[in-house]
Amino acid sequence: MDSVSVPNKEEPLLNSEESPTIRSKKRRQQAWETSVDIYAAQCDKCQKWRVISTQEEFEEIRSKLSTDPFHCNRKPDTSCEDPADINFDATRTWVIDKPDLPKTPKGFKRTLVLRKDYSKMDVYYYTPLGKKMRTRNEVAAFLKDNPEYKDLSPDDFRFTTPKVVEETIPPNSFVAAKSSSSASSNRQKQKKLREADEKPTSSDSES
Ligand SMILES: [Zn+2]
Repeated sequence: MDSVSVPNKEEPLLNSEESPTIRSKKRRQQAWETSVDIYAAQCDKCQKWRVISTQEEFEEIRSKLSTDPFHCNRKPDTSCEDPADINFDATRTWVIDKPDLPKTPKGFKRTLVLRKDYSKMDVYYYTPLGKKMRTRNEVAAFLKDNPEYKDLSPDDFRFTTPKVVEETIPPNSFVAAKSSSSASSNRQKQKKLREADEKPTSSDSES
């Protein structure tokens, strides 16, 4: 059942799993790293989970989750009557994202990578030219050096990491090892993540 520690309302989720079943169409730009494979959002009315097909769409939903809760009918041809796209259970590892994070600035790419020991996820941004940024300071330095992005501020980039839902971590993996040699250039096997977001309160977008 869903005794899992479901996010406090209004938190998006994402998760990783080992089964290729639902690996949605959204993997296009992140082939280089093991990260979120599937995004999902939870309907504020019926509590079912809906797969969100792209990161862009997911970020859009996430960016206003508190004020504009997600509902099934936001997906084409979908209503609360339809069975859930996926269930929040331990068949895959879920990661709970924070609501209301800013959308990734145009041209940039935000990537989440799950550590091998499942202890946490790391957030990276890639600039339009592919430079990887790991911290707010790096972002600030980049923006300073590249006046063409003067409209952006470090606040447009958030390194807030989603929380790995412990109950959904595969039993054979090790979470304790904090010291994860994260510099792992070796790609973790085949983990798929999915991100979903949870619905907060009621809403008014009656459709
Ligand atoms: Zn619904």
